[in-house]
Amino acid sequence: MTPKEIRKTSDSGIEILWADGHESRYSPARLRANCHCALCIHELTGERRIPPESEFKDTDLKVLRSDWIGNYALRFEFSDGHNTGIYTFPVLRGLCPCGSCNRTEGSGLLQAGLPIL
Ligand SMILES: [Zn+2]
Ligand SMILES: [Zn+2]
Repeated sequence: MTPKEIRKTSDSGIEILWADGHESRYSPARLRANCHCALCIHELTGERRIPPESEFKDTDLKVLRSDWIGNYALRFEFSDGHNTGIYTFPVLRGLCPCGSCNRTEGSGLLQAGLPIL
């Protein structure tokens, strides 16, 4: 599961065209609120140090740039200065907000025995 194309959206979010043809659109808030870096999630306790997605205002937050990390992840730089979050492709795909991804979440894929990668 790898992105074929990564584009900026008009609301300064990110759009990913996956190798399997699926397209995912992420708002800056969705990406920012789901950061897993040590600054956002406490390494030992797992405590979240960032507000949930609904408390971010999309208009205030932008994805300034995206960088490939090897061939397994992307790193985003946000307009709030945050740039330590690394989003692996399976995590990104899991964050896809589209209807068909959310329908199968936790049931279909697992029951079919498909790898979650
Ligand atoms: Zn973070
Ligand atoms: Zn999707």
